[in-house]
Amino acid sequence: MASRLRPLAPMLRTLPRTAVGEARVSSTLASLAAARAASSARRSLSLKSFFTTRKPKSDTFTSQFEPVLEQADLFHPLSKSPLEPVRTKAEWIATHGTCPVCKELSPDEKSKPPKHECPDCGYPTHCSEEHYEMDQEHHKHVCGILREVNEDEHDLRSGRRMKEFEFPGAQHRDEAVNLSNWDTFLYTRGFLSMNSERSMRHVSHVLTYPLTIGSVLHQASPYQLGKDLTIEGLKSLAALRHTLHPAIISGITQSQDLRTTATHTVRIFCLGARAESHLPPHIYMQLAYLFPSTAFQIHFVGPDAIPPHTKSKESHQHVHYDQMTFVYDNSLYETYHAEAGPFNPYYDVFFLFSPGLAHPATKEMWKPTIPLLLDTKCAIFGTGFDEQDVMNDVNEIESAGYELDWLMKPRENAFRSLKHEVNMTDVRQSAQCNWGIWGIRGRRYDVRPSDQ
Ligand SMILES: [Zn+2]
Ligand SMILES: [Zn+2]
Repeated sequence: MASRLRPLAPMLRTLPRTAVGEARVSSTLASLAAARAASSARRSLSLKSFFTTRKPKSDTFTSQFEPVLEQADLFHPLSKSPLEPVRTKAEWIATHGTCPVCKELSPDEKSKPPKHECPDCGYPTHCSEEHYEMDQEHHKHVCGILREVNEDEHDLRSGRRMKEFEFPGAQHRDEAVNLSNWDTFLYTRGFLSMNSERSMRHVSHVLTYPLTIGSVLHQASPYQLGKDLTIEGLKSLAALRHTLHPAIISGITQSQDLRTTATHTVRIFCLGARAESHLPPHIYMQLAYLFPSTAFQIHFVGPDAIPPHTKSKESHQHVHYDQMTFVYDNSLYETYHAEAGPFNPYYDVFFLFSPGLAHPATKEMWKPTIPLLLDTKCAIFGTGFDEQDVMNDVNEIESAGYELDWLMKPRENAFRSLKHEVNMTDVRQSAQCNWGIWGIRGRRYDVRPSDQ
């Protein structure tokens, strides 16, 4: 794996939510809501979700997409942005950030706050123009990424009609999807207006969770035996695909409720869930469309597993949406495990999105969980922010001496977010959500489906 990014996962993980990406998440969700409204005007879609959208009348339709910013006007120094949330972000960085030159001159002292904004990327990067000039050799390597993030953020809040978020509905059963990479997936699934890298970054950022899951589990997976998958990996996935790709059952059509007609439900457990649980359910329908004969339960477990757009403080909530049921639970996984069992490798799979198994802040919390997961003999997949983050988790697993088999060697995730997330306490560092992926399973010697 080629490493292009500095390790920053620990920083991203421990920062308060206001520090990294929260503004971005809310602006992305607002854009999604607008696109959802546009989408419902364009064709009829199920709106069973609590993710409420007002159906715009055709004459008001265009007026809700009055752009605040034109496409040629997306770059602004953060402190002078016409958008208030962006100015707030600039203030936060200028207060809590780091001047890399100060840091280098006296590593043990807290640097002066980075008040000086780079004219090319618009970020507050150094304490003074003098330190900025001294650091050009280093800053030029991150300036381009920061500029891109700056413009993307203004674009998300520009008020333009975001056609790229108007996602396609179900596919025909005989339609083949190509999961080699983002391009082939978006093309074969008929996504609209995917004609710029910026659109690709926006869309990959919200679809990375469902597509990371889908691309591993699907029979058209880009991950192949020998190259990425071990023999044990192929066995585990073959078991799951046996359930996910059943022969067409006569009498069942897509219009019927698969939650009651499907012969089996596949359960996907997302543990330590954070951002992945805040996505609106219709985003996860892009996973369901890949498996038109399967009903899903997605269990988001962890203290930050909260359904989007809810005021409820219930620690356990269910949301039903077409062929999927979403379960949100804030209990510790040890407790949840006992309730959710028994587990079956043919129907159950675990995903740990950037878990931080080796990180000092989260390491101890994972210790009781991992043996329980291995004991189920179900497949377990994990992701990381960058190469270093992935390898920290992998080394932690290896050194713990568990009885396990590797299913997938750590590698770059074909469906990582293409968007960079900037570490606001040190803007030299950035990472991509679900950059890398790996897979393990508790060691076993023979598995048969429970009904044989
Ligand atoms: Zn300085
Ligand atoms: Zn710059």
